[in-house]
Amino acid sequence: MTLTLDTDIQYLKGVGQKRAALYRRLGVYRVGDLLRHLPRDYIDLSAPFEVAAAPLGERCAVRAKVLNKGSEARIRGGLSIWKVLVGDDTGVMNLSFFNTRYTVAGLKEGEEYLFYGRVDGTLLSKEIRSPMVFPKEEAVGLYPVYPLTAGLSGRMIAAHVRTALEALPQSLGDVLPEAVRRGHNLCDSLFAFRAIHFPHSVEEAAIARRRFIFEELLTLSLALLKLRRGGIERSAPALTPPDWTAFYQALPFSLTGAQQRAIADIAADMSQGRPMNRLIQGDVGSGKTVVAAAGILMACKGGFQAAMMAPTEILAAQHHRSLSPLCEGFGLRSALLTGSTPAAEKRRIKKALAAGEIDLIIGTHALLTADVDFHKLALVVTDEQHRFGVAQRAALSGKGQAVHTLVMSATPIPRTLSLIIYGDLDLSVIDELPAGRQPIETYLIDSDKRDRAFGYIKKHLDRGLQGYIICPLVEENPDLPGLIPATLYAEELAAGAFRDYRVGLLHGKLRPKEKAEVMARFYSGEVQLLVATTVVEVGVDVPNAVIMLIEGAERFGLGQLHQLRGRIGRGSARSTCILLSDSKSPEVRERLSILRRSQNGFEIAEADLRLRGPGDFFGQRQHGLPPLKIADLVDDMALLEAAQQTAQNMLDADPVLETPEHRALGRQVDALFDQIGAAPN
Ligand code: ADP
Ligand code: MG
Repeated sequence: MTLTLDTDIQYLKGVGQKRAALYRRLGVYRVGDLLRHLPRDYIDLSAPFEVAAAPLGERCAVRAKVLNKGSEARIRGGLSIWKVLVGDDTGVMNLSFFNTRYTVAGLKEGEEYLFYGRVDGTLLSKEIRSPMVFPKEEAVGLYPVYPLTAGLSGRMIAAHVRTALEALPQSLGDVLPEAVRRGHNLCDSLFAFRAIHFPHSVEEAAIARRRFIFEELLTLSLALLKLRRGGIERSAPALTPPDWTAFYQALPFSLTGAQQRAIADIAADMSQGRPMNRLIQGDVGSGKTVVAAAGILMACKGGFQAAMMAPTEILAAQHHRSLSPLCEGFGLRSALLTGSTPAAEKRRIKKALAAGEIDLIIGTHALLTADVDFHKLALVVTDEQHRFGVAQRAALSGKGQAVHTLVMSATPIPRTLSLIIYGDLDLSVIDELPAGRQPIETYLIDSDKRDRAFGYIKKHLDRGLQGYIICPLVEENPDLPGLIPATLYAEELAAGAFRDYRVGLLHGKLRPKEKAEVMARFYSGEVQLLVATTVVEVGVDVPNAVIMLIEGAERFGLGQLHQLRGRIGRGSARSTCILLSDSKSPEVRERLSILRRSQNGFEIAEADLRLRGPGDFFGQRQHGLPPLKIADLVDDMALLEAAQQTAQNMLDADPVLETPEHRALGRQVDALFDQIGAAPN
């Protein structure tokens, strides 16, 4: 039987059933997976030291002859230690082996080996504890260090990889078509496998890495593009713009130039007969909702249905509250469908949707369930889209035969990530705030000044304005003793400092119905002060709320604080945000003071990125992307662009990747596609 990349790992010489089970823990099922189990580092064996020159305190390779194998000595706890004396013309050194009788047994006195490990002891009496041992002839270039699992040593994995590389036929195919490899100066796969596992030099490893990074990014790009294109070029309803004058007149304000431009972009897209794929990016409070409303009007006036999806029930309800009067003014019927819609009501709405008796449906993920059918869906709007996974968006788009897609986001993301997440989405930026907005004054205080801050908040409430107090916690957490949970805090405030005011409590553990009730009371002005956790972070819009106190501000990321602060400053009144933190750390104070200086979400995100590093700020998980094994979205920007371009050209020529030179890549894409489908939000 010839070995292929698809051969079950257990049939590889030296593996067998038991080790195959261990391999499965590493995600290795087939020979191809083993070859893609890439080293996380290398040990440099290319320039071993002589004993005298081996640097103390450093990990390095020493070439030496075994002089005396010594014998095993028992030490406490059933452990055994074996001291071996090695040396060369320049000196001798000791090696200690713990519980590794087999390694020592394999050593031959008089034979030369390479020993790798940290050199301890003194200049005159050097020692390496638990060294790795390499026969002289095996020790060329760099030796791979693998991610491990109990029961599989690095040596074993390296040996299995070597066996596989030797047994695979020279004519092993390549997932990357030759033209692509030539075009981007990439090595072929057999070379890449050899060079990434057993490189002769750092340069050779880099050449191999570059190829795998490209392959990974190309596979991801193809999967996302295919997802978006739905496998075939689709047509979508060519809509006629409605009477915009009537729309403008129905609004209580006049639109900013940026809003008008975004609406013009949308109108142009939706009249083309091809699906719109547009992202509206605008900072918090820039007025994205009304832009979406324009698109909705265009779709529904054209006799089609529109769906708007928000990440939380609160937000969905808010959109419904603000959009339904506008819709009614134009003779459109709208409904709200969320997880907490009563079952009978749900059934009624679903029936009406399928019959075309509802024009606009607003909701949460509930809109994604398989039994929601549309009569004639033409437009899907996704608000605060970064909260949804790629797959969720695609699922909703898949509901219509061919739909226009509009996504709205306040989250500034670096270009690398946006290329991946939005791919070929067109972009409209709302870079202008509505007229009359005043900058939000932002202060940083510690808890000594809490009472004064309360007094300041009360002054605002007395003038008929509203405010927020944000707490990081819902319930008491013994690990965070200094932090007051929102529930307790709200009680204390309602009975104490704010006993003459109407205080409401909002947090994520409330039932949806309770949340909706509190929010309704806050919208109506009945609740003057809302004590809340970060559930108000996205989208909540109560322009009469102009003051916010954020407790434990150091516990939030800057982007999150910017979003939270964006709940105020939404009208023409002056707004104030008070960040409360007792942290004495200069880094924390520096980070928080960025918010005092800037109101610009892009600037703030950039500063945050600089301070915290990209890893945790733009976590891929929140975007619903599968984890990347080797590529790095920040470092590999140039390759990502090349991969995106290649993916587009490839799919233009071969939309389902069925030609012989694309088939292998197509299978790889399908495998990833499954993974994206299973990826949680
Ligand atoms: P976001 O972009 O954060 O989603 P919203 O769409 O919620 O912002 O709008 C924020 C607030 O600004 C809302 O109260 C909205 O009615 C108001 N608004 C939107 N556009 C304008 C405008 N051109 N002039 C004045 N107020 C506006
Ligand atoms: Mg919004």
